Amino acid sequence: MRLASLMLLGGLARAWVPASRRLSAGPNAAAAARRRRSRLRRQSLAELPGLIDLGAFDRPALEAYVTEELKAPKFRAKQIHEWIYDKGVHDFDAMSNLPKKFRDDLKARGATVGGTIAKLRVEQVSQRDGTIKRAYEFRDGSVVESVLMPYEDGRRTACISSQAGCGMGCTFCATGQMGLTRHLTAAEIFEQAARFSRELSARGERLSNVVFMGMGEPLANYKNVMAAARRINDELGVGARHITISTVGLARGIGKLAEDPLQVTLAVSLHQATDAARSAIMPVNDRYDLETLLGAVRDYQAATRRRVTFEWAAIAGENDDVDAARTLGALLKKHGIRDAHVNVIPLNPTKGYGGKRAKNGAVDRFCKTLETEFGVSATPRVRRGIDIDAGCGQLTTSVLEDASEDAAS
Ligand code: SF4
Repeated sequence: MRLASLMLLGGLARAWVPASRRLSAGPNAAAAARRRRSRLRRQSLAELPGLIDLGAFDRPALEAYVTEELKAPKFRAKQIHEWIYDKGVHDFDAMSNLPKKFRDDLKARGATVGGTIAKLRVEQVSQRDGTIKRAYEFRDGSVVESVLMPYEDGRRTACISSQAGCGMGCTFCATGQMGLTRHLTAAEIFEQAARFSRELSARGERLSNVVFMGMGEPLANYKNVMAAARRINDELGVGARHITISTVGLARGIGKLAEDPLQVTLAVSLHQATDAARSAIMPVNDRYDLETLLGAVRDYQAATRRRVTFEWAAIAGENDDVDAARTLGALLKKHGIRDAHVNVIPLNPTKGYGGKRAKNGAVDRFCKTLETEFGVSATPRVRRGIDIDAGCGQLTTSVLEDASEDAAS
């Protein structure tokens, strides 16, 4: 379904509004209504393309819909939730523990469980480490990537996208090279994690971590990202500290994150430790220079007492030697950043950027310098899925290139 169809459906949309928003009542009811309203604002019913998509509701909104609109007991919401997210069932007629009358009522009211993902465009599985990389197509044709990384210690980490494309323009990144298409809705973000969670559950495993390090800048889509993160925490059971929001350095967003009740982990993609070098590969540095960014990180730490991770894509001959490590160590020290960890990951080369990945020996020396001279913990990270298009945006770039070649032939 293409955008024009969605806009048409959007014009016909039946926006369901809980009774609590329509009725006036006493003080307790008013307080409950306020709570529900706030939940439903987060839920963003307006994002639905037409029919009432129960897959876009978080659990409280689903309960409100079942009890207020359908006048059914609350446990029916739990049953629907289990069918959608534990069993992957989207057809009401297959939800065998729901009474027929209730199922008919759902359908008569235009309820669907369409899900936000129209199709799986491509899936690649690494023969080296089991990493699974997927390109999903949403209903408007936008394509994004999701990755599942299994680790030997039992962790199962989903890396999900927050935007289709990205407007931050980091020169080394395939997603940055394609530009921003649009923000993803909270439901679109959540569904990427929910799919992995459901598949893992089916084989007796569980999703343990979620990182917002796929396509897009999460803090540029703050409201939807945090709504999805709350659902991942509440409905998929992933601990808040095991949900990592990664940013290229939107200082204002870091300030908001410090005040958010959901205590997620913050990761900052730094990659260079001087303004000139950072601005050359990350245009966002012209908006929020290192002084501003690290000031925001320091304030975040003062407010939350949480450890911050810095990501460092090690590029051969650019930022991978001992001098670069010393510049970084001195920068963190100057800004009073104490409880920090640096992940050093050899660059995933992309077609649009000439830099090469750093050698393992250089990465080891870089980490050792940070630790021994500055007391900053640093870990060389293994690149996951290096036999597949595992760098951010690389698989989508291949998918879109194939599609445009098909269209041209
Ligand atoms: S590295 Fe992240 S923020 Fe930068 S262009 Fe790529 S997706 Fe966007």
